Amino acid sequence: MRRRAVVVGAGIAGLAAAYRLDRLAKQRGLDLELVVLESGARAGGVIDSTRRDDCLLELGPDSIITEKPWARALCEEIGLGDRIIGTSPDCRQSFVALGNTLHPIPEGFYMMAPSRLTPFVKTSLFSLAGKARMALDLVLPRRSTDTDESLGDFVRRRLGREALERAAQPMVGGVYTADPDKLSLRATMPRFLEMERKHRSLILAMVAARRRAAGGAGGAAAEGSAAGPRYSLFISLDKGLSVLPERLCELLPAGALRTRTMVERIERNDTPGSARWSVHTLGERIDADAVCLATPAHAGARIIESAAPELARSLNGIDYASSATVNLVYRRKDIPHALDGFGFVVPAVEKRTLLACTFSSVKYAGRAPADKVLIRAFVGGALFPEAYEMPDERMTTGIRKDLGDLLCVRAAPSDVVISRWPRSMPQYNVGHLERVAHIQDEAGRLPGFALAGAAFGGVGIPDSVRSGETAAERLVTDLARGSG
Ligand SMILES: Cc1cc2nc3c(=O)[nH]c(=O)nc-3n(C[C@H](O)[C@H](O)[C@H](O)COP(=O)(O)OP(=O)(O)OC[C@H]3O[C@@H](n4cnc5c(N)ncnc54)[C@H](O)[C@@H]3O)c2cc1C
Repeated sequence: MRRRAVVVGAGIAGLAAAYRLDRLAKQRGLDLELVVLESGARAGGVIDSTRRDDCLLELGPDSIITEKPWARALCEEIGLGDRIIGTSPDCRQSFVALGNTLHPIPEGFYMMAPSRLTPFVKTSLFSLAGKARMALDLVLPRRSTDTDESLGDFVRRRLGREALERAAQPMVGGVYTADPDKLSLRATMPRFLEMERKHRSLILAMVAARRRAAGGAGGAAAEGSAAGPRYSLFISLDKGLSVLPERLCELLPAGALRTRTMVERIERNDTPGSARWSVHTLGERIDADAVCLATPAHAGARIIESAAPELARSLNGIDYASSATVNLVYRRKDIPHALDGFGFVVPAVEKRTLLACTFSSVKYAGRAPADKVLIRAFVGGALFPEAYEMPDERMTTGIRKDLGDLLCVRAAPSDVVISRWPRSMPQYNVGHLERVAHIQDEAGRLPGFALAGAAFGGVGIPDSVRSGETAAERLVTDLARGSG
């Protein structure tokens, strides 16, 4: 009997789900019609690489971390293995902006704590008093309770305010665009909790992890990045990250993907013998035996509201932040700074327009010709919603002022591309894991239904891929059981 599965949302999670649904159905001999409905004009969601003249711009994400293997494994499975590129071997360092100075992140420092003592003692990033407070971590006792704690509370408690303001907030903020006083440590960086639980002191745990990694002892790979940033863990694709969603689209059955198709709601069919779900777009109803909802949680909440109000309520409980990327092209000779790194982060206490900045053409080869520099700025996030709201001109002026202060660049860029990503970054606030467990519980009660996307099990591309693949496995198992 022919079945139909509908995937709502063609971001990377929805595309990974669609691809895997198709593969698994074929492997298991299921006759499955696949429909992928995407409200936007193109697939890929926030992944959006584009060429402008002789530069290759990433308007959304620019890197995949391979420590979480699912995105790289998918690239290899779909024939993109030889199109993977690593970060440039030179200039593998990043900076933190304090005042008008870029301070290198000390070697072996990871997010909030050092794994190497000499670079930490020598760094100009922290004051003497700040370093002394961080060193107190060596003697402070473990926390006695096990409740979820915010990143801000955790770092202030173990390492002090300066470690939070100058390192953890901007570095973690760069990944989660989050408010550290709301961000759940357990949901985002459980390894630091584990370090405290096992070793008591984070610094001792980091030093031990680095020694194990250096000695190649068991578990070293898992603890590798805890020993310091490892730029070799980041990859992209030769023509930008959009190569991945584009290839997934090519592999879908012909006609499966329908762009510019906004799903308004899905409803359950209770008529015996009929398909379980009806998916309503503007003007069309599509019956489906299985549905994968792979939109941001707030969009999913609207879509599922009439069929599962409690699930919708919980999905709406996940906050989102908006952020913008601004790609700027400069002539190399117009930037006096050596650009001897991959970019910098800006602590919120500095109150600049910029949250972070990537020297894109230094980080990856082939992004700009040798006489040009491609710089990508981040603006907005949970702490600076008003910066995200700025009109284009003010945003560009603010960024140019920051780049003037920090890179001494006075010349105007030859090209500026602003990309706004409204309510695109799920906020893993304190209590996130419990909320997600409740959501998965509610979703699990709905037959032939699965959720996927960055809101649930990790914000990055690898976790989004995994969430789509897990949803597909669940739906195919359900369909194969014949209960669909
Ligand atoms: C600016 C930025 C930079 C980032 N940088 C990185 C990075 O370098 N590395 C990394 O790993 N991660 C990064 N991330 C995070 C990562 O890119 C995303 O979390 C991931 O791509 C999300 O994929 P997704 O499929 O869950 O969601 P999305 O990409 O948001 O896709 C959801 C899709 O659903 C569609 N949709 C919504 N409503 C409907 C509807 N009613 N009907 C039909 N379709 C609908 C949307 O149009 C969209 O295409 C970044 C994110 C942003 C915003």
